[in-house]
Amino acid sequence: MKTRIEQWVLAFDIHDTLRAHLAEVVLALPDPIRDDLVNDEAFRLCEYEPGFTMTVPMCLGVSQRTGRAVALRRSLRHRHADFIRYVIAHELAHVHLRNEGRHPGEDPEFAADALAALWGFPRP
Ligand SMILES: [Zn+2]
Repeated sequence: MKTRIEQWVLAFDIHDTLRAHLAEVVLALPDPIRDDLVNDEAFRLCEYEPGFTMTVPMCLGVSQRTGRAVALRRSLRHRHADFIRYVIAHELAHVHLRNEGRHPGEDPEFAADALAALWGFPRP
């Protein structure tokens, strides 16, 4: 599985520091959640520099599901490892939950933080 994840993260045009943290977070995900993410050919992940025009690469899958995407701030790589992994896990939780709560009425931000913590990446 580790080799597969290392291959998977190479598909994203991000700094090697963020790529290494992404691989660590994805490896720690529960199997069904990791499989859902890694097998989603429409999933995109990129980094951006605030203040510059940004194009988030999106892809509409043949399944007609809306393409899921994460954009990480480029400067994130300068932060502490625990914070970087928390942010990545939080964003992947949004992807998993399709930007909704875990149940109707739940705040998506609360849900993403709760899932990130459950996966081993609590807000530092
Ligand atoms: Zn959020």
